Amino acid sequence: MKRTNTFAVRPLSDTGEQLLRDLLDASAALWNEVTYQRLMRYNDADGFEGDVWDADTGSLEGQYKGALGASTAQQVLRKNSEAWRAFFRLKDQYHDESNTSVTDHPEPPGFRGNEDDGRQLKTVIRNDAYTVAWGERSRLEILVGSELKDRYDHTGRLRLEIAGDPNWPDYEKQGRLDLWYDETDCTFRASQPVTVSDDTRATPLADETAALDIGANNLVACTTTTGEQYLYEGRELFQRFRDTTREIARLQSKLEEGRYNSERIRRLYRKRTRRRDHAQEALCRDLLKRLYAEGVDMVYIGGLTDVLDTHWSVETNAKTHNFWAFKQFTERLVCTAEEYGISVEVRSEAWTSQECPQCGTTDRTTRQQDTLTCPCGFEGHADLTASATFLKRHTEQAVRPMARPVRFEWDDHNWSESPRSHRPKEQRTDPSTVHYDGNVASGES
Ligand SMILES: [Zn+2]
Repeated sequence: MKRTNTFAVRPLSDTGEQLLRDLLDASAALWNEVTYQRLMRYNDADGFEGDVWDADTGSLEGQYKGALGASTAQQVLRKNSEAWRAFFRLKDQYHDESNTSVTDHPEPPGFRGNEDDGRQLKTVIRNDAYTVAWGERSRLEILVGSELKDRYDHTGRLRLEIAGDPNWPDYEKQGRLDLWYDETDCTFRASQPVTVSDDTRATPLADETAALDIGANNLVACTTTTGEQYLYEGRELFQRFRDTTREIARLQSKLEEGRYNSERIRRLYRKRTRRRDHAQEALCRDLLKRLYAEGVDMVYIGGLTDVLDTHWSVETNAKTHNFWAFKQFTERLVCTAEEYGISVEVRSEAWTSQECPQCGTTDRTTRQQDTLTCPCGFEGHADLTASATFLKRHTEQAVRPMARPVRFEWDDHNWSESPRSHRPKEQRTDPSTVHYDGNVASGES
């Protein structure tokens, strides 16, 4: 079985950190150069897709192997080729009328970072160019190029400290390591694909199922077949996102004619995105930890139900989609789920949110704020009800009787149980699984 260990890593010194940053930055620069060459060829007049393979990767490898080491330079180039191949595959599917799985026009691979924010620090390391030692003081050692070693007067591989314990410490082999700087919480992270033998299972994993309803006022409403319900409240975050959007619009209206941007506007955009990303990232981790502890191995996600209510204006819908960055959230959830060996599937269930769980009607129910009511007498929390209905549709397992839902609020750092939860403490998640990130401090304050 293929599984992934994802962990935070920390350089042992300031010089080590600078070296690591240079390595990640040079990798991003190489990625951008090859992407640029391929984009030029892709967009050229004759429109022949095969042209992208004519980019001069040999000379790029020669240029970057001093900093990165030959194997890492090759891996970055190879990963870029894989991204192009995936893009061509998607494009074929998109143009294939008998295939309905790709609905958005695919985009060619993009650049890492932009002019304003600088390059996105990220690299990829071949399976034999790094070692991981698990233990009381786990560490990662990676190969670096001779130029960087000279620049920092460093010898041998670069050693990094690993925080926390892996989900899959026993494996038969390791794959290509991804290593990047996560700006949402100012932490270096790595993900290590591993092959584990089929009889290895991370302990709690059973065959329970969970379903998530995604919305704006409640970011996630979740029901599990074990009878747990979780609600991550989003009102305040959504409100702040809208406030910042309004402030951006106000500043834009005051710009001189012909100008569309200013440093202040760019800063607000970045702040808005960072805040959203940080909350989403933390939500994924918090939720998956809980689901893992419940023995869930399958998660279904429904798409943005409360947004599709007809009384919402087109403008509000657009803003909500912008706020949610649904695709990005889904990818984040899938990545985090992979660490636990949990599968994720997206199903669009536009109408689930209106269905009465008691009599099955969809057109006689009324939703007022968070409450769904039906003439048959049913009354319940709309999003939690939607996630429960959604779950029942996708599982043949019996859903156990529901415990009282647990509500979570975001305080800019953590999702913590809201006082509105009124839930006996002992029913909370197993505390041993809570501090997954070990002692790496969050940089955002
Ligand atoms: Zn009803």
